[in-house]
Amino acid sequence: MTIIHNLGFPRIGAQRELKFGLEAFWRGEASAEQLNILSTWLREQHWQLQSTLDYVPVGDFSLYDQVLDMSFTLGHLPERVQGLPGSELDQYFRVARGRSAGDSTGVAAGEMTKWFDTNYHYIVPEFTAATQFKLNPQRLVQQLTQARAQGVNPKPVIIGPVTYLALGKAKDESNKLALLERLLPVYAQLLDTLAAEGVEWVQVDEPILVTELDADWQHALNTAYHQLKSCKVKILLASYFGPLLDNKYLAANLPVAGLHVDATHDAGDVQQLIGLLPAHKVLSLGVISGRNIWKTDLSATLDWLEPLAERLGERLWLAPSCSLLHVPVDLDSEEKLDPEVKNWLAFAKQKLHELHVLGQALNQGRASVQAALAANAAALEQRRTSPRVHRPEVQAAVAAITAALGQRQSPYAVRAQQQAAHLRLPAYPTTTIGSFPQTPDIRRARSDFKAGRIGTAEYQAAMQAEIARSVREQEALGLDVLVHGEAERNDMVEYFGEQLEGYAFSQFGWVQSYGSRCVKPPILFGDIARPQAMTVEWIAYAQSLTAKPMKGMLTGPVTILNWSFVRDDQPRATTCKQLALAIRQEVLDLEKAGVRVIQIDEAALREGLPLRKSQWHSYLDWAIESFRISANGVQDSTQIHTHMCYSEFNDIIAAIADMDADVITIETSRSDMELLDAFEHFHYPNEIGPGVYDIHSPNIPTQAHIVQLMQKAAQRIPAERLWVNPDCGLKTRQWGEVIPALQAMVAAAQELRAAA
Ligand code: GLN
Ligand code: ZN
Repeated sequence: MTIIHNLGFPRIGAQRELKFGLEAFWRGEASAEQLNILSTWLREQHWQLQSTLDYVPVGDFSLYDQVLDMSFTLGHLPERVQGLPGSELDQYFRVARGRSAGDSTGVAAGEMTKWFDTNYHYIVPEFTAATQFKLNPQRLVQQLTQARAQGVNPKPVIIGPVTYLALGKAKDESNKLALLERLLPVYAQLLDTLAAEGVEWVQVDEPILVTELDADWQHALNTAYHQLKSCKVKILLASYFGPLLDNKYLAANLPVAGLHVDATHDAGDVQQLIGLLPAHKVLSLGVISGRNIWKTDLSATLDWLEPLAERLGERLWLAPSCSLLHVPVDLDSEEKLDPEVKNWLAFAKQKLHELHVLGQALNQGRASVQAALAANAAALEQRRTSPRVHRPEVQAAVAAITAALGQRQSPYAVRAQQQAAHLRLPAYPTTTIGSFPQTPDIRRARSDFKAGRIGTAEYQAAMQAEIARSVREQEALGLDVLVHGEAERNDMVEYFGEQLEGYAFSQFGWVQSYGSRCVKPPILFGDIARPQAMTVEWIAYAQSLTAKPMKGMLTGPVTILNWSFVRDDQPRATTCKQLALAIRQEVLDLEKAGVRVIQIDEAALREGLPLRKSQWHSYLDWAIESFRISANGVQDSTQIHTHMCYSEFNDIIAAIADMDADVITIETSRSDMELLDAFEHFHYPNEIGPGVYDIHSPNIPTQAHIVQLMQKAAQRIPAERLWVNPDCGLKTRQWGEVIPALQAMVAAAQELRAAA
């Protein structure tokens, strides 16, 4: 009998019930008891949906974040909240968000960072040499009781000790790994507590097994599982988000009862692992992708599973590749999705159904699920042959790409002269990153338009009025390069996706990003075509209102790719190049319309980096090439800008320079220009605008502070190549904050010019 199980279920709710419940609680409009009723109900719903599984995950539900939950289970809270009044829930939200529901003043929220290579963000555990742990198993035990009462077979899920340490940050000079010795007894206690509750299997997640591990971390894994070996539960050690590669031998031989691996990447890697696996161990294969929204090819999966099932017998388990946290809940709620595209998709609920079909096919023969297999094969065949997916002219254009396409006519030094003659900008030119405040009026006009309450003409007039306002404000401020303000954009990816062919949009395809925040990535299903210009009308209108240069704003191909659900039937590199060709057409149309400064945002370039450093090179190769294809068809006198919102630059600075943008604007203000350290050894060749104030904060920067930051920048980069700008777009701010902040910024630039 092949066992089927799941690693984790999305907790936000099919209609984002958890989001709304949390936000009502934070506003003080719902009680802790109401929040508890809601989360109990959600867990019940989710277990109900998983009730055909042999084991269901317990403890995967979280009010904010599973890493934060683990910190609480380990009795590990940052020092700054220790001893503050209130319940455990108050403390929990203080660490998560800086305040609990009743607080009038806050504490610093825990730092947040990306969960491996997903778009989910966790709260970083904070370690010092003095960190102590103390078991607090209540949450898990209660959820276990609740699951039992519902009649499902529970498998508690926890984050493993080594991954937990790897995810955290030492706040002093201490070595995190030294804490392992203190941490392991608490894990042992936890496992024994679960054993006493009658638990048979515990899923212990160690996704760091798919990353590059040095000898110390390998040793830590060995130490940890040798020490936990005597606990009275069976451990299913779970790795996911990629193949094990050089960690196979280590993973196969850790003394645990079972191992789960992501089997969606590299079948050869799995075969080799099976050869290494001791004969008593359970092997759980993650054969259904928990990272995309496509149907699995069930027959092809069975083709390679059947001989394995024969060989492994009882030892074979099946599951999704990782927790389903990273996919939307239920495709059935989608009423507006094109039926043809919808038939190619599977969200969490549908993926569990696929798992069920696979399990039954292995246990009772394919004939027992013949109808399901036939329907699956028909859907896949339709996708494989659909003219909506395959456009020969787009494929031909990608095949015809040559290096020349990504090459500017002249080197930067020549271009810079032509641009200077053309744009006549002062030293320390000022600009912004693109968006101005998205006011309630803008949102109202957009939703009225979408709902058909106002017509196209009325909507256009409303957006033009907003653009005119932005231009007026920027002229009054005395900025040098203006922007139209992006009033018409709901989102920097969705806006372009809506106008490109090859994209579909869900109504409820939400995925948790952090806490109560969700994103709804558009679905890129087919070859990309741009039927008509997407931005020219708005930007040309803005340019018509001013004699100053207007910067045209676009989202770059790599960012569009990284923030979409993309197809799995061709390499990401190919999809990215298709996007690059579409953006290139837009760039050239803008240039033709007289727009001579064009910014192509690559906010998400860094987050596409593979988990293993050894694979960075190949990603950066096609990512940078895609950017170059999109940007570099313009004339020398047209100035290309790009923007990135992060400051960890050092390790990819050469690739960024290779983009050959004339100007790059980056986030730096929060790190006090720390980023510029990257330029100590690397001579960045082109112009750069290090963000001088943090747009995420309502604080108004002072002129003196901005001058000081720019002077710091000028120590690393020649002043004639520096720009002055905020560190990101201003859409989340209010005009009342934006005006004084930009006044200080412009005044600072004037002071710098006068001093030069
Ligand atoms: N141009 C975009 C804006 O100003 C950039 C947003 C971003 O970097 N995330 O909003
Ligand atoms: Zn940004």
